[in-house]
Amino acid sequence: MTTSSIPQWMKSRIVPDEIDRYLPASGDDFIPDAEIVRLLAVEGEPPAARVRDILAKALAVETLTLEDVAELMRVRDAGLWEEMREAAGAIKHKVYDNRIVTFAPLYLSSRCVNDCAYCGLRRSNAAMERRVLTMDEVRAETEALAGQLGHKRLIVVYGEHPESGVDYMVESIRSVYEVKVKTRRGVGQIRRVNVNAAPMSIAELKILHECGLGTFQVFQETYDRRAYARVHPAGTIKGDFRWRLTAMHRAQDAGIDDNGIGVLYGLADWRFELLAQQAHVHEMERFCGIGPHTLSFPRLEPAVNTPFAENSQWQVSDDDFERIVVLARLAVPYSGLIITARESPAMRRRLLPLGVTQMDAASNVGVGAYADGQQKQKGERQQFMLGDPRGLDEVIREWAQAGCITSFCTAGYRCGRTGKCIMDLLRSGTEGKFCKLNAVLTFKEWLDDFATAATQAVGEGLLAKELDAIREQQPQVWPAFQTTYQRIVAGERDLYF
Ligand code: SAM
Ligand code: SF4
Repeated sequence: MTTSSIPQWMKSRIVPDEIDRYLPASGDDFIPDAEIVRLLAVEGEPPAARVRDILAKALAVETLTLEDVAELMRVRDAGLWEEMREAAGAIKHKVYDNRIVTFAPLYLSSRCVNDCAYCGLRRSNAAMERRVLTMDEVRAETEALAGQLGHKRLIVVYGEHPESGVDYMVESIRSVYEVKVKTRRGVGQIRRVNVNAAPMSIAELKILHECGLGTFQVFQETYDRRAYARVHPAGTIKGDFRWRLTAMHRAQDAGIDDNGIGVLYGLADWRFELLAQQAHVHEMERFCGIGPHTLSFPRLEPAVNTPFAENSQWQVSDDDFERIVVLARLAVPYSGLIITARESPAMRRRLLPLGVTQMDAASNVGVGAYADGQQKQKGERQQFMLGDPRGLDEVIREWAQAGCITSFCTAGYRCGRTGKCIMDLLRSGTEGKFCKLNAVLTFKEWLDDFATAATQAVGEGLLAKELDAIREQQPQVWPAFQTTYQRIVAGERDLYF
């Protein structure tokens, strides 16, 4: 496509009918701004009994109302706050057990037609080196991730640009799945590819669905309309708030039922964002029959030549960020919560016991950076700078020392446990037990194939406890499980329940 035809391409992106069919004819939508403002204006702490009722509801894996969440936001009492933190950890344990799912981000293109004020990839940023990876380069990146590090799950990320449109996405996802690399004892390969990309039409999403993607993520960035307009210039595709707001409706109608939403914290008042996101969750439950598979919490990070990212008046402090994660865990007890390597090691340690279910590690968000073998971040190649540069081995050892088993499990979507099916399992607390088996198998695989001696020692200690627990708590599956485990020990790979 020539540069002169890009404006034409941009005009064809938004399909008005695929916005209007999901929203009221009045021009309204499902974010009740006035109601949120009213709830945020209420003063005074809620009575302890009311707080405990709300916590009981969350512990029963029920989605909270806007009023519930707003009341929890007003808790200042240190003792009650501690009860909220404990409830967040308990919910995580009930629904997901002691697993942390890990993944890596893979940026495939840094070209973008949009001009988001906070993003290093915005089109007006002349300091950015632009690149769209060729399929050979995509395979080289995958080889580094699957062969050297041992990742099994990726989130592939694209700017919005005709050179990285849906055909490119499908070709690149297929290229990722193709790669198989010999490892110490088995074969390294990516078994689940999630996608973070701009909103798409139903026709495009159907194409994407057919190539075997896992979760489809689109972050609203901010639900505050004025803040949205300030950072997403009118006339760009992303400037259309409603096209973005209906992204998940179109994904659902295209057959994609594992969907992830999120807020970019630092663009507006986080309390407004959290309540508006809760309204989005309710709308997804109403429309899709299921809420979001994951909630993400990107927080503004510095980016090269991007003053906005450091000067926003709405920067979120570490204490408030912890509050956000706890409140979100309580508000939507069944969703996966993703905290990325944008956050520092100290912050990730602090959030680990509070309900987080997924974290990336050994991440590099520079386009083409994994195959280069360079750990060092290069600002002019990446969307923003990361806060946790540690390697996967070190991070997994730390999680194991904290009693968390790292899961590389990708069985769910390959067995059809997606969408409503997985939601029901999560809500009933069944998925936690079930996934534990696959977490243990994939953890053992990774330890044998990739771990250093120090991490293997810590990991095997944790595995011994997990095996005892499975034998005791799930005696009916133990014989079949033990046989499968021994096959992994003998070098077989990719076995799952
Ligand atoms: N271009 C697509 C879009 O905007 O939907 C794909 C997503 S973008 C490559 C991934 C996410 O990174 C964005 O949705 C945004 O939330 C986040 N992000 C952008 N700039 C950031 C920054 N300076 N710090 C932290 N996160 C940022
Ligand atoms: Fe482009 Fe996404 Fe960055 Fe906006 S956030 S400039 S759409 S890559």
